[in-house]
Amino acid sequence: MPTSSVYPDVDIPDVDIWGFLFEGEHRIPYPEDKVIYIDPYTSRSYTFKQVKDTAIDFGKGLKAVWDFQKNDVVCLYTPNCIDTPAIIWGTQWAGGIISPANPGYSPEELAFQLKDSGASVIITQMPMLEHARKAAKIAGVSEDRIAVIGDQKDPQARVKHFTSIRNISGATRYRRVKKKSTDLAFLVYSSGTTGLPKGVMLSHRNIVANSLQGATLEGNLAWNNGPNGEGDKILGFLPFFHIYGLTCLIHHAIYRGIQLYVMPKFDLPDFCRFIQEFKITFVYAVPPVILLLAKHEIVSKYDLSSLRMLNSGAAPLTKDIILAIHERLGVRVKQGYGLSETSPTTHLQAWEAWNNPWGSVGKLLPNLSAKYVGEDEKEVEAGQVGELWMKGPNIFMGYLNNEKGTRDCLTEDGWFRTGDVGYQDKDGNFFITDRVKELIKYKGFQVPPAELEGYLAGHAKIDDVAVLGIYSEEQATELPRAYIVLKKGVSADKSTADEISNWLAGKVASHKKLRGGIRFTDEIPKSVSGKILRRVLKEQAKTEDGAP
Ligand code: AMP
Repeated sequence: MPTSSVYPDVDIPDVDIWGFLFEGEHRIPYPEDKVIYIDPYTSRSYTFKQVKDTAIDFGKGLKAVWDFQKNDVVCLYTPNCIDTPAIIWGTQWAGGIISPANPGYSPEELAFQLKDSGASVIITQMPMLEHARKAAKIAGVSEDRIAVIGDQKDPQARVKHFTSIRNISGATRYRRVKKKSTDLAFLVYSSGTTGLPKGVMLSHRNIVANSLQGATLEGNLAWNNGPNGEGDKILGFLPFFHIYGLTCLIHHAIYRGIQLYVMPKFDLPDFCRFIQEFKITFVYAVPPVILLLAKHEIVSKYDLSSLRMLNSGAAPLTKDIILAIHERLGVRVKQGYGLSETSPTTHLQAWEAWNNPWGSVGKLLPNLSAKYVGEDEKEVEAGQVGELWMKGPNIFMGYLNNEKGTRDCLTEDGWFRTGDVGYQDKDGNFFITDRVKELIKYKGFQVPPAELEGYLAGHAKIDDVAVLGIYSEEQATELPRAYIVLKKGVSADKSTADEISNWLAGKVASHKKLRGGIRFTDEIPKSVSGKILRRVLKEQAKTEDGAP
């Protein structure tokens, strides 16, 4: 029997994201002049009202300047920036869809996403402009439809700053485009259980639902919960292009009225300095960052006593690390679990249950049901290990233009196959024990093996290849490693390995580099149908010297 959440269902209003966040009765009544997004480096900030006004200005500008139509797609190709939220909701005000991309992508990687998502506008920052232009050219997006955000403007004005995308004529005909709650809001990219990155279609309802499902367990986080009515403060470094940062940071901050200090990327000394200086109370993190806080010597130089809780997600976290950070700093870490395809959070530990039971990623959020399934696709007995399948309002609508990929992971009766393996104890606490899908995660970032295998197969010296993730205790993350069969006559030595590694590094974003090294082999184990037997390679990897 599938299990339901132990929490009562929450009501999910039938509104689009704009209606949920900015209009009517859904808004939590915190003051509109409350500062929400702050750049800790420059002190530039946005209040709720400024975000709303800037978004409307930008939404009107999209229509006035670029004749933006309902369901047009804006691609965000930028590191975290406090201007990003206004771009996201301005686009949605105008009826558009947001597709965020990793700012570390090469022009080719970005062009893939531009083409696949059908994006017609690119929002970037000055340092990424040349890559954005190259990608736009490959994908056939007009160079005129690129704009930059952030403090830096183009001194030669070859590219528009987003603040100049305005309704200059003052035309009054531009109105907000209301969307159905089942319409598409975001197209984030994930490789899912297999293959290349795919456009994960997230509806307005998916996002609204997940805000409310999460709120059930994040009630301790509030805009006015301190002894003097002061609220929580979050330090945000998770990338906004990944679903974890997009929802847990951008959306939750404005929905609950919690101040979010936005870092463009993670930097340990700055991270500690900002916690001390701004009395940060909460951080959404990933295991490698928690490891650094638990072990790195520099952390001792700072007063991190304002921290009430850390949330860890996106990858497995061991009990040892949770204990180590608690012993060192007295900081508690609770875990959560989810996927791009689930908008993202499906499980969260309650604040009071952060250490009970150890290693759990928490209980199923409201409005969700789950079951655990064996290889025969039948449910396993209660408490036994199986692949996690889930059903609920935050499960995505399918992969864009990819019926097969959608059919492979969404059953006809609405169950989503996660590709993750685990079990639930008798109290409803969920544990993840393994992953049956191909995906590798480096520090929470997706590395789709099929993508790297595709590149490597095109290298002149390579006959066959398989890529898999090797777990590094030292870095608390998986590292991508390639098993390579070389063409006849090529010598299997360090210089060939270095050459291949460097060649690949020039083609992909940094997180996809072969940090787990290269192993030369005579044969890639395959099934009769030609599928790589990754399990066999994983077992083989365990017997090798661990050193990349
Ligand atoms: P993404 O779509 O990039 O968010 O990746 C989702 C995948 O990350 C899941 O299918 C899991 O394999 C992994 N993941 C997310 N959260 C956790 C967690 N708390 N523990 C273990 N793995 C996780």
